[in-house]
Amino acid sequence: MKLVEKIKYQVPIKSVLSKLNIRKGANGYICPFHNDREGTLKISETENRFECERCGATGDQIEITKKIKGISFEKAIEFLAREFEIKEDETENMLSEWLSNRDKKPTLENIFGKETEGKVSKHDSKIYTYIINNNQLHHIHRTFLYKKGFHDDLIKAIGFVSIEKPHLFVEKLKEKFGIEALDNAGLLNRKREFVFQKNNLIIPFFEEGSIAFLAGWDIAGGKNEFTFPHHKGIKTFIPVIETKENIFITGDFKACFAFLKNGCFSIIPSQNNMEALLKFKNKKIFVCGEKNEMGNQFVRKVIKFLSEHGINYIIGGFEHCFEDYFDFILKKKS
Ligand SMILES: [Zn+2]
Repeated sequence: MKLVEKIKYQVPIKSVLSKLNIRKGANGYICPFHNDREGTLKISETENRFECERCGATGDQIEITKKIKGISFEKAIEFLAREFEIKEDETENMLSEWLSNRDKKPTLENIFGKETEGKVSKHDSKIYTYIINNNQLHHIHRTFLYKKGFHDDLIKAIGFVSIEKPHLFVEKLKEKFGIEALDNAGLLNRKREFVFQKNNLIIPFFEEGSIAFLAGWDIAGGKNEFTFPHHKGIKTFIPVIETKENIFITGDFKACFAFLKNGCFSIIPSQNNMEALLKFKNKKIFVCGEKNEMGNQFVRKVIKFLSEHGINYIIGGFEHCFEDYFDFILKKKS
């Protein structure tokens, strides 16, 4: 709940009047807005409002504070929050902050333009393998990974690469595989440009021993977003989560994003299988959410469900999702 709403619901108008030194007369409170001797100002405790029967002055706790102290709406809120020790919900702040930040970021659709139809073919896999085998990790990316706490063995095990000159490399790919094949493999965006950029860390994703997917970790401008060639045909990965103490709940089910989150529980909102969340009651639940509108709606639904069922949750936890992701790809590779 927002601070202003909290004040309206939780601070009794009676206490506000007493805090503002508005005293009682014979009939009611002495109205400070006209020359009152009888006490014509009446309050409704259920609605938390005041009204003067004589001069017609009316309003709520914030309104009267503003008028008596001659301060702005914001200052009145500040004053009441301080005096009555009302604090804004931290999770509420975090959620709206997070949602507004996520809204600003581009969606998968506007990055990649279109989804790749069908399953990853052997030929797609061949192109992905070629990309991984013919590139190395640029020192800038390596430094970035060091700062993130990755050590050389882990970097090698995961098989990160970066493409130093993507515009040249894509020409090489076109020459070797043809533009249609690249398109089919989800490697071209709607402008038919190569999806990977100089700032992308590329992570090969293995399925049954061969590369089924490439993920790009964008490190430009401090962003740590994963971006992908987008494959419609890949099945959502639902990991075994029973043994985990921390549960991450995420809301994007367009294949690749759900892949990321090992230990993250995937629910398809359209199937309304929220009931499945009940079994996590005693675990530490992180609601990670997603960046597109569908994801936002999903997060709200999940939060509503959890609240209604008295299940505690924490908003956030993306970082841990990433850690889980690396565990997961290492497991898949071996
Ligand atoms: Zn009055």
